[in-house]
This record gives sequence, structure tokens and C-alpha cells, in this order.
Amino acid sequence: MTQIIRMTRLYAPALKEDPSDADITSVRLLTRAGMIRKTGSGLYTYLPLGWRVIKKIEEIVRREMDGIGGQEIMMPILQPAELWRESGRWGTYGPEMMIVKDRHNRELCLGPTHEEVITDLIRNELRSYKELPVTLYQIQSKYRDEIRPRFGLMRSREFIMKDAYSFDADTEGMDKSYQAMYDAYGRICEQCGLDWRPVEADTGEIGGSGSTEFHALADSGEAELASCTCGWAANAEIAECVAQPTEIPDHDSIEKVETPDCGTIAKLADFLGVPQSSTVKALAGKVADGTPVVIFVPGDHELNELKLSHIKELAGFELMTDDELQSTGLVKGFIGPVHLPKGVKVAADQSLKNVAHWAVGANEYGYHFLGATLDTDFTVDVWGDLCAVKEGDLCPHCGEPIKMSRGIEVGQVFKLGDKYSRALHATYLDKQGKEQFFQMGCYGVGVSRTMAAVVEQYNDEYGMKWPVTIAPAHVCILPLQMKNEQVVSEAEKLAQQLADLGVETVLDDRNERAGIKFSEADLIGWPVQIVVGKRGVENQTFEIKNRMTGEKQDVTFEAMRQAIDFSGRQEDPVKVFLGRIANVQLGKPDKAAYTKSLAN
Ligand code: ATP
Ligand code: MG
Repeated sequence: MTQIIRMTRLYAPALKEDPSDADITSVRLLTRAGMIRKTGSGLYTYLPLGWRVIKKIEEIVRREMDGIGGQEIMMPILQPAELWRESGRWGTYGPEMMIVKDRHNRELCLGPTHEEVITDLIRNELRSYKELPVTLYQIQSKYRDEIRPRFGLMRSREFIMKDAYSFDADTEGMDKSYQAMYDAYGRICEQCGLDWRPVEADTGEIGGSGSTEFHALADSGEAELASCTCGWAANAEIAECVAQPTEIPDHDSIEKVETPDCGTIAKLADFLGVPQSSTVKALAGKVADGTPVVIFVPGDHELNELKLSHIKELAGFELMTDDELQSTGLVKGFIGPVHLPKGVKVAADQSLKNVAHWAVGANEYGYHFLGATLDTDFTVDVWGDLCAVKEGDLCPHCGEPIKMSRGIEVGQVFKLGDKYSRALHATYLDKQGKEQFFQMGCYGVGVSRTMAAVVEQYNDEYGMKWPVTIAPAHVCILPLQMKNEQVVSEAEKLAQQLADLGVETVLDDRNERAGIKFSEADLIGWPVQIVVGKRGVENQTFEIKNRMTGEKQDVTFEAMRQAIDFSGRQEDPVKVFLGRIANVQLGKPDKAAYTKSLAN
């Protein structure tokens, strides 16, 4: 049994106009429907309906965490700086960390994540291999001073996250814990109704040996994803790029040609009458120790800075200024690997290994070499996967052309290995009584971001369309004429009957025009709307609308009476009522695909 939610009593101030600073659909609709309010830059208050959604997502997450043996705890949000100094992250985490000082001038941070705190928690107390594995989790507000808080709940400075941490005796155990979490994340996405995809991901500053992100597919997503029909998918920031540079035609040996005004790839390709993929682009810069390096990539590709940062010889690469180019002896727009000034190193994207003859700058203003031959005219010091992937590149697994799409990262799982247990000296005693470092994993789901991601996927010009699993309520009853006693009494009666069954029922008992009730119901996006009108009462029918599909049907009072009569039936009333009467599915059927791990 639940309480009827009466619109006359509900604090859900709706707005007629879009908020002027809404930069994405979800924040616009959630704000207009009176579900959230902006308190400050990147700070939001959840109003009753918004908070109901958050709690439902949390419940789904909790059930899945408990289902794989996770145990819920609650750690402090305030974290002592000493722990972060011990792990070495105090200085490296960066300006996203919110730092505060206490009255004794001691530094603390508002937790952006909890690897340090939890490793400190278990060290000295989780002692024996017999107690392993252990997975602990919490659901709590996290703080990150994002450089650009934006897109409402997507990138805020305070947000709700479920974070979990696993402790195992060895890497096999860690892999198992990781896989269990991976599968649970898939089920969480499913139950929230998301169209989602797991993708290979960077481990970032958290570190570790392997990572997967869970993305809700949406054009409004900040992340770019590369994927293939074979099942391979990766965040574009780390996706291996298999570019297809083309050979410059009719140039088997080096020839210097005059290329006036061809200081850009576009102009050069145009002048030569070849596609940009037949040219080679040069990017001159300096790496961390000051060594000048020119990086060559196919003319139709761009550098990927994250990949560069992972290659030792290229770490810290920064493009040279015009002055630096000049003092190094490089000619802007005409740089090539042949006759480079002394001391300049050459790096190139791996895809160019297959291109014997290059069209490149001649290190002389107004000239290029066509057919400059690899290993004859020049050599390459460092080969690597350096380019950003793009549509048309080939899948590194199966060789088919890949597709690019956009996603919202709702969760991420990491294999940490012993990175934190070693730094904080967290050990257990193995069978032989020997000290060993824990093998850890850490796992995060953005609860508030998930709420926004669902709205991004389920909306139309009228408002939101909540999947019933996380909707602020299941059903909204709309009596159209509040002055008509029969209408009001039928609506009241039905609301009470549904609430008694456990169906979360809203009664729009406001003395408002029908048009306003309809449009607000669509804006909030109740999954099922039941209209009680004067004519309906005369004909003994309700009109039922499924917000997700737009389907409408008339249901007689008698059919409704039967649908809500559960005497002697064993079924779950909520599920059966919603399914039978309104054709609403409770959650999507399990998709086998999500268990197919990329980690294998
Ligand atoms: P992003 O790359 O989007 O900044 P992240 O990789 O730094 O996110 P994680 O450390 O993996 O984030 O955190 C786990 C989850 O917390 C993310 O998958 C995301 O759902 C959520 N999250 C992270 N940052 C924010 C934020 N600023 N606002 C809302 N949710 C966030
Ligand atoms: Mg992440």
C-alpha cells in the first residue's frame, strides 16, 4: 500500500518558460517540470519528484550491489590530506579537488573518490586470505571542481555516485570481482531503461591495468565512441586507430616539386589533385625534456594527445610556437622528415609504416617532396598509435570499417591491481603466512548523471517519458472537471484502489483546465495517465494513455474493476496492473549481450 500523491499538496513548481541557462534537454525538462532546481554553478537541489527518481535508481544499484555480495558502508565526505599525500595523489589529482581547511589550519578535501580512505580503512584490519574477497560500496555525494560545470546534472560539482571497491588475494580473484561488477553494471543500465554500451576506456589518473566505461548512447553525450558491428567498442580518446593512408600515385622515388602557397594539407592535396589521405602531415613540438620532435600522421588524421602522453618518448609533447619553429630551423607548412635540422627527432603514426613513398614538406619554403622513401631517404625514430580515430578507419579486431557515435558515461569499472595497496601498504597474510598486497578494483556509477541520461534518451517535444522502473510514480489520474462530483468521486475511488495495490499513484486534484493538466502530465512524463472525464463517466470508461508509446485506449469501469481485483491471485499487482491495463513493461527484458565482456 502506498499513499496517494495529491498534486494540490505536491511541491513541484512547474515553469512555463525554459530556464535561460539550460544548455541541454535534460536540465531544461527536469527544471521546467519542477523536479530539480539550480542552487549555484554545478549545484542542484532535488525537489520531491526528482528525489523519488534518484531513490529509485539508488535502489536498483543497491539491489545489484547486494546481489553480487557487496556490503554497503558510509565513509566520510571530508578526507584528511595525509591519506592523499601517502598515495602520492595530493599533488597530482589537480584543481578538480575541493580543498578546505579546519580551524587548526589542517587541510582536508571533499571526497572526489575514495580509494585512499577505503584502503586506509581495511589495512591492518582485513588481515587473512580467508576473509577475501571483500567488496564494499557506498552511495554518496561526490565533489569535483569541474573546470566547466555544465549540462545540468551531467557535469556538476556536487553529484551522487555509487562507488565500490573490491579486495582480492590475487589477480585472478580481482578479475572475477571485476567481471561480477561489470555484469551488474550492465543490469543496472538495463533496468534504468538505457540504450547503453560498454566501451574500452582510459584508466586516467585513477590508474590500474584495465577499464571499461558504460555509456548511454546520445547525440548530446560529451564522449566520442568508436564501435564496430563485431562488438568491439572503445572511447575515441583511447581507441586504437587503424587509419588507411593512401599511396601518392606515380612517385616511386623522391622528387622535389614546387608547391607555391601550399602551407596546409587542404591546399597541398588540392594542388596535387590527390585525397588528403595521400599526404603526410607534420606536427613539430617539444617533449618534456625539451627535445624537438616532429610527428608525422596521415594528412586526413589528427593527433590524439592522450595517446601521446602514454608514449614515454613523446610525453609532454607541446606544439612549437612560430618563434620556436624558426629558431629550430623548421619552415612552417613545409616540414618533412628529409633533411631535418640536426637533433630533431622523428615520430610517426604506425599506419604510415605501410606507406613506402610519402608526400611531405621539403623543409624549404614553397617546396614538397613527392615519393620520399621510408628507410631510404629518411628514418623514423619512434613509431606509435598516435592518431585520433575517425569514421572509416578499420576495426582493430575484425578489420571492418568502424562507426563513430556519442555517449554519456554513466559508469566506469577499473582493475587497480596493487597500486593503492602498495602505496598505502595494505597487506594480508596468505596461506603460508606471508604478507601480500591486496589486488583491488574500483567501480563508479553516476546516479544523478544516470537520471539525466535517461531523460536525454526518453523525451519528445512535450516533455519526459520515464521508463516505469525509475519514474517518479507509476500512474497519474487526471479528473478533468473538479466541479463534477461524479468525476471527482470516480477518480478518488480509483486512486485509492490503485494506491492500496501498491501502485504509485498521483491524483491531479487541482482545479485547473484540462489542457494544463494534460500538458503538465506529459511534461513530467508519468508512464501511465488515466483520464476521468464527464463523458467517460457517462459511458463508464476511463481513457488510459501510455506516455512512452503514445498509445491510448478506453477501458471500461468493469474491465478496470477486474484488472485491480487481486483476490486469490498470486501475481505482483503492480506489475500485472501496469502490464495488462496500460501495456507498460516493468523494465526491459535482459539483454544477453551485456554479459559479453570486452575484458575477455
Ligand atoms: P568524466 O570523464 O565524465 O569527467 P570521470 O571518468 O572523471 O567522468 P569517474 O571517476 O569514472 O568519472 O566517476 C564515476 C562516475 O561518476 C562517472 O561514470 C559519471 O557517471 C559520474 N560523474 C563523474 N563526474 C561527474 C560530474 N562532474 N557530474 C556528474 N556525474 C559525474
Ligand atoms: Mg570515468
